[in-house]
Amino acid sequence: MRILFASSEVAPFAKTGGLADVAGALPKALKTLGHDIRVVLPKYRAVDAVKHGLRRILPRLSVPIAGTVETAAVWEGAIGSVPAYFIQQDDYYDREGLYQVEGRDHPDNAERFAFFSRALIELTRAVAFTPTVYHCNDWQTALVPTYLRNTYQGDPEFQGAGVLFTVHNLGYQGLFKPATLAVANLGPELFTPFGIEFYGKVNFLKAGLVWSDLINTVSRKYSQEIQTEEFGHGLEGVLRSRGRDVSGILNGIDYEEWHPSRDPIIASRFSRDDPAGKAVCKADLQRTFGLPERPETPVLAVISRLAAQKGIDLIAESLDAILAMDAQFVLLGTGEPGLEKIFETAKARHPSRVGLRLGFDVGLSHKIEAGADIFLMPSRYEPCGLNQMYSLAYGTIPLVRATGGLDDTIQPFDPARGTGNGFKFAEATGATLLATVRRALELYRSPDQWRRLIRNAMACDFSWDRSAKEYEALYQEIASRHTR
Ligand code: ADP
Repeated sequence: MRILFASSEVAPFAKTGGLADVAGALPKALKTLGHDIRVVLPKYRAVDAVKHGLRRILPRLSVPIAGTVETAAVWEGAIGSVPAYFIQQDDYYDREGLYQVEGRDHPDNAERFAFFSRALIELTRAVAFTPTVYHCNDWQTALVPTYLRNTYQGDPEFQGAGVLFTVHNLGYQGLFKPATLAVANLGPELFTPFGIEFYGKVNFLKAGLVWSDLINTVSRKYSQEIQTEEFGHGLEGVLRSRGRDVSGILNGIDYEEWHPSRDPIIASRFSRDDPAGKAVCKADLQRTFGLPERPETPVLAVISRLAAQKGIDLIAESLDAILAMDAQFVLLGTGEPGLEKIFETAKARHPSRVGLRLGFDVGLSHKIEAGADIFLMPSRYEPCGLNQMYSLAYGTIPLVRATGGLDDTIQPFDPARGTGNGFKFAEATGATLLATVRRALELYRSPDQWRRLIRNAMACDFSWDRSAKEYEALYQEIASRHTR
C-alpha cells in the first residue's frame, strides 16, 4: 500500500514530545512490512538541512490559503529507507519554536497548520504519489480529511483516498475562533455540530474525527477512556458516535535508539545478562547533576513536559517526604513556569538531594534512563507514554498511575510470585503517590527482589513490529472501503 504519514513533528528532525518518536519509528517498521510509506512535516528552523542531507526537489508548490494562493518549496530527506518530505514556507515555519515560544502559542497556528495540511495534499499531486491512506496525526493534520472529503470531493485525483486519524493526545484540539474557517479556505456550511463547530469555535481535531475513515489512539485503555466524560475533553460524544471505528494500538519504541547495550550516549553499556554497567551510569548521572555519588541511595527520576496532565504537582506535593526516605531525585523538564519554580525552590531546599535541569535535552534523557533506579509517571491521563517503556529497557523501574498506556504496559510487581515490571497506583493524590514510592523503596532495600524486578523489566518487548502489523490491518480495512 501507499501511505503518506503526516506529522507536525518527526524525530530526529524536529521534536517536542512522543509524537516525534512515533513518527520517526513507526514508518520504518511499516516499510519493513513492504509498504511504500513516506513521511511529511514542515521545514521548521530547527530542521538541520545540512546535517540530514536534505535537498530541494520542488521550488514552487501552489497552496490555496486564506482566500489567496501561497507558494511553498518542498525538500526531501530520509529516515533510513523511508523518504521524508519537508514543506518549506519560511513565513510560517522559519521561527523559534514548533508551536509556541516562551510558553505562548504562535498566534497564527491555525493558518500554519491549515497550510501544512493543504500543502501536503497538493504535494501528493505534484510528486504523483497517490496514497491509499493518508495517515494523519493530531490536530495539526486534522484538516487533511476535512479538505479531502469537502474541498477535493469532486476531484477525480483524490477519489478513493482513505484517511486514518491517530489521536496522540485529545487534550490538544486546535481550538480557534470562527473566522479561522475563512483562513483555512473552508466554507461556512461546515460550521455545524456535525462538522467542525465545537461550542461556537472551530475545532480542528473534531473535524479530523468526523471526516476520517478510521480513528485510533495509542493504547487500548486510552481508546476506551476517551469515550467517557472524564477523559473525553468534550469530544466523548463525537467519539462514541464513531465508536465502531475507534480502536487502540499501543505505541512501540525504537530499540535502535533506546537500548542500553548499544546506546552511544550513556557512560557504560549494559544488558539484562550483563547489568554491571548500570552502576557506572548511575554514578555518571549523580555526577552530572552534582549529587553525591552514593551507589546505595535510590535515584528517582522524571523526564517530562511540566504540565498538569503529567501529575507533576503530585510529585511536588510529596517531594519533601520522598527525599526524607534517603532518596535522590532528578528532573529534566520544561513547561509551566509555576511548576518550574516549585522545583527550583525544592532544589534550593535540598541541594544535595535534588538534581534539576529545566530545558529539553535528548542526550541527558538517555543518561537519566540509564542511571536512575525508579522512574516516576503519575500522569492524570496518558495516551500511551514512552518513557515508562524506555525505562523498562534500561532496567529503571516505572512507578506509574493506572491510566491509558501506563495501565496497559505496567503490571505491579508481586514479590511472592516474582511477577510484574513496576509499581502502579490508582488515586491521583500526592498521598497515594507517596505510599507507592514507600513500597518501592522498601523493595529496593531487598537486593534479590530488586534484581528480579529489573530482570522482569528488561525482558519486556515493546518493539514496533507487532503494532505496525495492527496499523497495517487498519490500512487494509480502510482500503477495502475505497477503490483506488
Ligand atoms: P508526551 O508526548 O505527552 O510529552 P511521551 O511520554 O509520549 O509524552 O513522550 C515524551 C517524549 O519526549 C519522550 O521521548 C521523552 O523522553 C521526551 N522528553 C520530554 N521532555 C523532555 C526533555 N525536557 N528533554 C528531553 N526529552 C524530553
